[in-house]
Amino acid sequence: MNRALILGYALLISFSLSAQQNKSSIFDPDLQIATKIKTEALKNSKVDEYLYLLCDKAGPKLTGSSGMLRTDTIAMLEMKKLGLENVCIEKAKTWERGGWELKKAYMAMTAPYYMHFYPAPVAWTGGTDGLTSGKVYYFSATTHEELEQWKGFYTGKIVLMPDVMQYQINFNPLATIYTEQQLKEMEYQPIATPKKKVGLPTKNALLTYQEILDFLRDEKAAVIIHENGDFNVPVITFFPYEMGNEISPCEINITSEHHGLMQRLIENGEDVRLEIEIEVEFIADEDVYFVVGEIIGTDPKLKNELVIIGAHLDGYPMNNGAGDNVTNSVGVLEAMRILKSLNIKPKRTIRMILWNGEEVGMHGSKGYVQKYVKDEEGNKLSEYDKISAYYNADYGPGKFRGIATQNNLALEPLFKAWTQPWHHLGFTTVIHRNLTSTDHVPFDEAGIPAFQFLQDPLEWGRGSHRVMDFLDRLVPDNIRHNAIILAWFAYKTAELEEKLMRK
Ligand SMILES: [Zn+2]
Repeated sequence: MNRALILGYALLISFSLSAQQNKSSIFDPDLQIATKIKTEALKNSKVDEYLYLLCDKAGPKLTGSSGMLRTDTIAMLEMKKLGLENVCIEKAKTWERGGWELKKAYMAMTAPYYMHFYPAPVAWTGGTDGLTSGKVYYFSATTHEELEQWKGFYTGKIVLMPDVMQYQINFNPLATIYTEQQLKEMEYQPIATPKKKVGLPTKNALLTYQEILDFLRDEKAAVIIHENGDFNVPVITFFPYEMGNEISPCEINITSEHHGLMQRLIENGEDVRLEIEIEVEFIADEDVYFVVGEIIGTDPKLKNELVIIGAHLDGYPMNNGAGDNVTNSVGVLEAMRILKSLNIKPKRTIRMILWNGEEVGMHGSKGYVQKYVKDEEGNKLSEYDKISAYYNADYGPGKFRGIATQNNLALEPLFKAWTQPWHHLGFTTVIHRNLTSTDHVPFDEAGIPAFQFLQDPLEWGRGSHRVMDFLDRLVPDNIRHNAIILAWFAYKTAELEEKLMRK
């Protein structure tokens, strides 16, 4: 090799080195992590396996029921299999209702002809005394004066509550996703202060639905039948039982088609008869739990600080809670699997929590906050200064399309930047709203930065809180997408120099 050639090589090497150095100055190493997260989520997904376990195998998961414990246990075992640390089922707080389980449900019209119905007993009401059959009475009193005349009449009888639904032909699509335009519109928030309520006095001559219901409960009707739901998909509802109270008569929700059928037959003078058997069990367990596990942080100073991702795992009786909220619990579990399998060593500790008690009043997350963040008197507790952020997912089986800052304007630039790598997946939007009604709320109220993701509506409302919330209705690819976003937000928050700015 001659000198000129050597010189040439040396020049070439130094040129390519400096080109690389220039490159590395514009190269964001976190985008390599983003690529790895996406690849792991798409190549080695365990979403389908987790869905089977937490929907089909676990079954219904009403807080306080044996199904809740079964579901928590399955989740805990999977978290242990991932190698998460400090995995356990922990008590959040006590709650005076206890558990309730449906053991048997049968209902059919036997006269004027046979027609079987789908009964959805109201949770925490009593059962029937074995197989009960009898004439059905349509409740028709409308005023307080009329009510007096019916005292004693309905005791031990099967009563059909008044008609409350008018079926309307629906020309809207069954499922929707947000358009770019709709997401843009959501970014804009008009200022609107709540208006003072004016209106009718609350007491008037006509009976309210609740007054009729209270009357029939006091009268000890044998069975009270509500109209709730349609297309043979009853809505599931709860009775506000408290442990130790007398058990209220059996109440059942049926769909408007079956309710309307019986109502019209009765109004036309037919003798309508029903055969009903409902068997229930009350469980005297007043503890509400959550399932927790973590990837311990590695920075000597920051590892005591926390980033939490979570979703509620509890649901309703009579369905498997697929869209509300196994879909998002699986998203959280899969996000932790991705982070764990990439062997990411976050600076802060990343904790996952699957809550119980959400559907009955957010008791899991409330209990956690009262235990570790801020007590009921407002005293700051051990984790108040340690939690950087809590990210929650509970808006059904749709894709994450954005995040709400919960009106923390300071976070817009940061969150906008974090959406950047995922615009090609449709995750683009940061809105300034106070999203409500789920487990980030107790954290937000305690002063912790806490957020809920914005999800495509899909069929939201058709499945949730109804007897047909099953795995078939879910879209596993959406969960893979959501797990990517959850893993990314957890990772980015864990790596920041500072905790997220508080409101
Ligand atoms: Zn939910």
